[in-house]
Amino acid sequence: MSFITRFAPSPTGPLHLGHAYSAILAHDSAARENGTFLLRIDDLDQTRSRPEWETQIFDDLSWLGLSWPQPILRQSDRLPLYASALETLWDQGLLYPCSCSRADIRAAVSAPQEGAPLHGPDGLIYPGTCRPAHPPSGPMPDSPLRLDMARALAHLGRAPAFTETGAGPDGETGLITPSTMTRTVGDVALARPGLGASYHLSVVVDDADQQITHVIRGRDLFSATQIHVLLQGLLGLPTPIYHHHRLIRDETGKRLAKRDDARAIATYRAEGKTPQDIRAMLGL
Ligand code: GLU
Repeated sequence: MSFITRFAPSPTGPLHLGHAYSAILAHDSAARENGTFLLRIDDLDQTRSRPEWETQIFDDLSWLGLSWPQPILRQSDRLPLYASALETLWDQGLLYPCSCSRADIRAAVSAPQEGAPLHGPDGLIYPGTCRPAHPPSGPMPDSPLRLDMARALAHLGRAPAFTETGAGPDGETGLITPSTMTRTVGDVALARPGLGASYHLSVVVDDADQQITHVIRGRDLFSATQIHVLLQGLLGLPTPIYHHHRLIRDETGKRLAKRDDARAIATYRAEGKTPQDIRAMLGL
C-alpha cells in the first residue's frame, strides 16, 4: 500500500514544538514506509496569513532535517475547487445560509438544555436558529453557509467511520455515532464571510486531490476529523487512515499555542539548540 502523508501548517505565526512534533512524526512515518511526505500551506485565511511566516516555516522545517517534494500546494490557489465542492453539498440540499454572528450564537445558547455540551470543534455548538425546515432551493447564494448535520448524516445513510491508529482525547477510536455528531458537533460553518470555504471543506478537498493515505495530526483535531470523514462520504472522496497523536504541553500542562514564542522553533535555534535537541525534547 502506498503511503502519502502531509504537514499542513497555516502561515499565521511561528512553528512551535507542537508543530515540530506533528511534522517530524509525519516525515519519519513516511520515511519508514518508503512513502511521501508533503508540505501544504493552509493559507485560506488571507487576513492572517503572511509570506514572512511561510518563509520561516520552510526555514524551520529544513533546519529540523525535513524535506518535501516541490511544488508545494497553497490553499489560496485553490478557491474555485472549494467552491465547487460547496456546490455539490448545496445541490444535495445539505447547506443553508446563516449570517448569525458569534454574539447572536452566544445569546441564543445562553440558556442551554441541561447536560447538552456547549462547545464543539469550532466553538459554541450552533443552536440551529437559521436552519430551515426544508432544504433551500435555487442557486447557491454567495453568503455564509452551514451544514445541516442531521440531514447530512441521514443523506450519508451510515455512521462516518475511519481507521484510527492513535486515539482521541478520551481514548476514542474511529467510530462515530450519528447522534453523537449531531449533539457534539452540530451544524458547522462550511463557508464563512469573506473567507469562502472553511478549513473543514478545504482540507478534505486537498487531502483527496493529493491522494493522502495517512493523516497524522494532534488529538485536538479529533472532533474535526469526524466532520472531515462525513464530508468525504458526502463528496464521494476516499477516507485516509488517521493517527491522532498526543499534544505537546508546557510544564503547567497547558497546550502550546502559536503565540507561545518562548517555545517557537526559531527561539530554540537562536539559543543554539540543535535539531537533535528538539527531537530529544519531544521524546523522539
Ligand atoms: N492548518 C491546520 C493546522 O495547522 C492543518 C491541520 C490538519 O488538517 O491536519 O492546524
